[in-house]
Amino acid sequence: MTSVNSAPGDLAAALRAATAALAGAGVPSPRADAELLAGHLLGVGRGRVAALALAGADAPEGLADLVAERCRRVPLQHLTGTAHFRRLELAVGPGVFVPRPETEGVAQLAIDRARSVVADRGRARVVDLGTGSGAIAASVASEVPGAAVVAVELSDLAAAWAERNLAPHGVELVRGDLRTALGDRDGTFDVVVSNPPYIPAGAVPQDPEVRDHDPHVALYGGGADGMEVPGAVERTAARLLVPGGYLVMEHAEVQAEAVAGLLRAAGRWDRIEGHRDLTGRDRATSGIRR
Ligand code: GLN
Repeated sequence: MTSVNSAPGDLAAALRAATAALAGAGVPSPRADAELLAGHLLGVGRGRVAALALAGADAPEGLADLVAERCRRVPLQHLTGTAHFRRLELAVGPGVFVPRPETEGVAQLAIDRARSVVADRGRARVVDLGTGSGAIAASVASEVPGAAVVAVELSDLAAAWAERNLAPHGVELVRGDLRTALGDRDGTFDVVVSNPPYIPAGAVPQDPEVRDHDPHVALYGGGADGMEVPGAVERTAARLLVPGGYLVMEHAEVQAEAVAGLLRAAGRWDRIEGHRDLTGRDRATSGIRR
């Protein structure tokens, strides 16, 4: 790696060397990551980086160091300090789960429901259980005028990131365990949304970015099937929602049946529905509180 751009030199050459090094380290999108890291240092987007490279610009100072870290599979978002989620640019780094594209679809379901509640009643009360960086809660608050959004987070480290991301959108951050949180506000929410930890204990993720850098508390759902925390989300949602309130939660594709079964067995949900992500996988389930 020391060969990459140790004297800053030419941007085009530095990007080629970075791309080769990243590909060699098994990074899935080496060219994109090389351009994004250069763009981060230059304060410009990827398109501008490509244009600058064509125009014969110099490589930015420090690119080699960032590329070396990325080759060690430090998440791209930890190196740039930001993750894009729907319309937002969120602050992320060590100690918080990096939000994923599939969760944008889960946020959409909560947004759609919150909008229809606002249309009917002028306002909607929404809670995001296990908010992490605050991605879902901040999206709902920023995209649904009239939504009052609460976000619950257990981890101190994650909550510090959430605070930064949620404050500009007026979301109330509540520190605590989603099992017991908001005990004094039962029966007062219209929408409960959650991307809980749900990975089964034995299903250790293959990507080093996930395995070594996402907090375990955000990944593993508890129990051999990973369903302990999703079960707690169902119970908490049942107590927090008004009758007719809407629950939507993310899960792994293989858990679609288990989550639908959990909601059916609880006997307090109508219109239990599965939802696919953009790649056609069953990644979320919703229900209406009886
Ligand atoms: N989606 C996560 C992953 O891909 C799993 C945990 C979660 O999102 N709650 O690693």
